[in-house]
Amino acid sequence: MKIICVGMNYAKHVDELHGMDFKRPEEPVLFMKPDSAILRVNTPFYIPDFASEFHYETEIVVKINRLGRAIDKRFAHRYYNEVGMGIDFTARDLQRKLMSQGLPWEISKGFDQSAAISEFIPLSEAGGDINNIDFHLDINGKTCQSGNTRDMLFSVDEIIAYASKFFTLKIGDLIYTGTPVGVGPVHEGDRLQAYIGDRQMMDFLIK
Ligand code: ZN
Repeated sequence: MKIICVGMNYAKHVDELHGMDFKRPEEPVLFMKPDSAILRVNTPFYIPDFASEFHYETEIVVKINRLGRAIDKRFAHRYYNEVGMGIDFTARDLQRKLMSQGLPWEISKGFDQSAAISEFIPLSEAGGDINNIDFHLDINGKTCQSGNTRDMLFSVDEIIAYASKFFTLKIGDLIYTGTPVGVGPVHEGDRLQAYIGDRQMMDFLIK
């Protein structure tokens, strides 16, 4: 199983990380996390000691349910029928340092526990339209990040079409579809609760 992630997929998030003058990507920006990055449903995230600023990135996650490569965008919707939520934990200070040196930032994104994941629900239970899913994250009861998949720069189907040019998609692969504006650090003792619409998908602690 592999985890494909999309960076810079919400315009306002691109602005908050890179400034208003940063050019938006012309094609999806992909990176991967290894399967060892999975943080199982509602288990605590233990803050690692190799960096000092760990950010949450709340994302809609799609689970691939068919084998495919070079998938045409028109048929991409046939490759998933379940959605979940994930937190793409990012060692932001480490990522900044690596980016400033022009180095790959893999270790700041793919470390153990960096891919928190929820249970999956049928797309129909998430409103039925992959391009109109409301989601948000509460930290300690206060909403910190909210988004709707309609604001993605590249839709799920476009991501699948693009990613499958390079990577054969397999059953069980996960696609983290990018985070909206509002990322920020987590701290020991925080409680993270993530929702699709009003439905709670995640509820776990930072330790
Ligand atoms: Zn992300």
